[in-house]
Amino acid sequence: MSSQPERSSRRGSFETRPSSRVYLVGVGPGDPELLTMKAYRLIRNADVVFHDDLVSAEIIELAAPHAQVVNVGKRCGQKKITQTEINTRMIVAARRGLEVVRLKSGDPGVFGRLAEEIDALESAGIAYEIVPGVTAGIAAAASVGSSLTDRRTGSRIIVITGHHTHDPGDTGSTPNTANDWRGLAGEDATFIIYMPGRDLRPLQRDLLDAGFLPDFPVLIVSRASTPAQREWATTLADLHYAPAIEAPSILLLGRALAGANHRVTARILTAVQDGACSSLPGLA
Ligand code: SAH
Repeated sequence: MSSQPERSSRRGSFETRPSSRVYLVGVGPGDPELLTMKAYRLIRNADVVFHDDLVSAEIIELAAPHAQVVNVGKRCGQKKITQTEINTRMIVAARRGLEVVRLKSGDPGVFGRLAEEIDALESAGIAYEIVPGVTAGIAAAASVGSSLTDRRTGSRIIVITGHHTHDPGDTGSTPNTANDWRGLAGEDATFIIYMPGRDLRPLQRDLLDAGFLPDFPVLIVSRASTPAQREWATTLADLHYAPAIEAPSILLLGRALAGANHRVTARILTAVQDGACSSLPGLA
């Protein structure tokens, strides 16, 4: 999984120090306690930290006072940073011999543009190492008290994105094609749908058109593992009634989620009966 040995190319570098290794680190879904010990150590020791928008402030604050911390997220309110610029900045920092840590939410290899960064580092002759993290889908299931598999009802997990890039000027994390849900419809699968979108109706329509059964249990989890976590339980047939839930959110779908679906539904009903609607997503 990790890179080739230090065969750092110093072409174009005026530094005397050899290029350092770049660490491509997953930091989990938000809760700092879900960091691996390795991620923690690397963040503490980094000279330069490049991070995405979704990396939480508590995690970024672990960096040493001398560290240069750079938000290379796409939504950081500044000029849009392209993937090519991110790659270049990592390569330049590594060639200066700095400890470079690239932080990505969840696991770096799940919808994290990791492949493009690996390609760029490989072409530049920069060594790298990948540090896995807890991906949002796994964290979301845990946070609603659910298993993703159940030998009675769910023997497959399908990890998929609901979003496909339409930006021809950038190389997005997914191909610009719609999902072929028809090939995926099945009773025994649990779907983890990243980036389901704010408006869930197109996804609902696609799934129903593809033959997914209307009574399929659905759970939507927003900001899993953080104090701002919210969840919603429904069925595919009623998905269009789900409140607009804040990003980042993830949608879980499948029979294996039935138990958690009932428990979350019961909690929501109790909260509504107790008049605690304002704490529920979209019901404020
Ligand atoms: N590499 C990340 C995914 C990045 S894509 C991982 O492994 O988790 C970004 C998408 O991940 C978001 O749109 C959302 O669908 C999901 N996501 C990330 N963090 C989340 C969180 N704390 N709660 C719910 N969904 C999250």
